[in-house]
Amino acid sequence: MNLAIIDDDFMVCTDCLMIIANDDATGLDYSLGEDEAEAREREIREAIAEIQREQGQIAVGDSDKDDVFSAGPCACCGTRLAGARHHCVILGSDREW
Ligand SMILES: [Zn+2]
Repeated sequence: MNLAIIDDDFMVCTDCLMIIANDDATGLDYSLGEDEAEAREREIREAIAEIQREQGQIAVGDSDKDDVFSAGPCACCGTRLAGARHHCVILGSDREW
């Protein structure tokens, strides 16, 4: 099965990027309390799982396309907290195309 980029403009917040790129949510602990960090991690992992089920695999994109500061919602978890947005892509089967 060949994977093709089906979404080339998937901008995610730093929290999501950490989990997408490194499967690592430990950075959340620095900015949040333990319970909050756990809830946030669950929220992000659920959002990722849903996108993977309905669209395709999320992959880290081109860091040159990162947005250092944006108030737009994160494409993954939907947070509207202003901050950096990192460029990711969605890889899907090109069968459908
Ligand atoms: Zn996010």
